[in-house]
Amino acid sequence: MQKLVVLGATGTIGRNTLDLVRRHPQRLQAYALSANRDVEALAALCIEFRPRHAVMADVASAEALRARLAAAGVPTTVHGGGAALAAIAADAEADQVMSAIVGAVGLLPTLAAVRAGKRVLIANKEPLVMAGRLLMREAEAAGATLIPIDSEHNAIFQCLPPDSRCGRAPAHVRRLILTASGGPFRETPLEALAAVTPQQAVRHPNWVMGPKISVDSATMMNKGLELIEASVLYDLPDAQLDVVIHPESAIHSLVEYVDGSMLAQLGHADMRVPIAHALAWPERWESGVGGLDLAALGRFRFEAADLQRFPCLGLARAALRAGGDAPNVLNAANEVAVQAFLEGRLSYPGITEVIDRTLAAAARRTASPAEDLDAILAVDAWARAVAQEAVGA
Ligand code: MG
Repeated sequence: MQKLVVLGATGTIGRNTLDLVRRHPQRLQAYALSANRDVEALAALCIEFRPRHAVMADVASAEALRARLAAAGVPTTVHGGGAALAAIAADAEADQVMSAIVGAVGLLPTLAAVRAGKRVLIANKEPLVMAGRLLMREAEAAGATLIPIDSEHNAIFQCLPPDSRCGRAPAHVRRLILTASGGPFRETPLEALAAVTPQQAVRHPNWVMGPKISVDSATMMNKGLELIEASVLYDLPDAQLDVVIHPESAIHSLVEYVDGSMLAQLGHADMRVPIAHALAWPERWESGVGGLDLAALGRFRFEAADLQRFPCLGLARAALRAGGDAPNVLNAANEVAVQAFLEGRLSYPGITEVIDRTLAAAARRTASPAEDLDAILAVDAWARAVAQEAVGA
């Protein structure tokens, strides 16, 4: 029986993970669940799964959850705050940690799980983008096993030789090719993009996801962050990483080897597939998802990503090439810009402008690249302040 910590239990990834716990009660136990401030949603999950611990990142919400569970007679111990989140991620009894907290706030608990040598299932890309070098260094030192959940990186993991591990450059690989759906604006006339609303941007054609990542998919910043994520996870430079638009979202990514062979992983656009793979690895478990009906699908399309349509992808490539603090700055500026867009304070093209301005300001700084956690968080805070100012400008 594996004891599982689910950080971000009430989100899309968290709920899909708990669906697998439901399917495999002999193998998996929900040991600890966390949420940000949705008391009712976490209470319902605690009532069903009876975890030993529950953590609300928001302290006042922890108080409310404690009262709610006491009234329901559920014996779960409730904790509150960021320090409790990091402590539960490193809990001595936990075997696997699903790291699925959206945004930069997921960094500290992810790092705590890595430092504790856990098997860490990484679903949130921000920690890898912000602090990739630090995370991989600490994982190596603590003997932590990292398994990517992001569908593209999980697909690559599945297409690499069985002895491959994250953090090492895979042998005989010429290129990793990330597939992208192209999002809701793949065919929108370029001049219409200026007037795009948040409601249009969050309507993804193939995947059901939270609002932030849906906007990132529309701008293709999501793919840009994934390029950086792939560079960190598989220790490969920009020149060996490619993106291709594949509107069917059936091929989740490919690995090209030096002999010209290309291996791909295919499946339904259902996150239970990569989650089941990671939870079971190196075994395979039933996920509740069937295979593709290839004859019904008929054909697969591929096209190059147009950087005029998706300028955020170009910005992410530039940040990857620049290295140092640039990926961290890119991520922070993007979070600020997307939030402002979702709140109606920034136009759709404004997202690109804010990130571009913040990266330009970062390039003028002379500080040496951040290596430790405090320095990384300081760069993140600096970039957010610069981006906030750019939103207001
Ligand atoms: Mg992805």
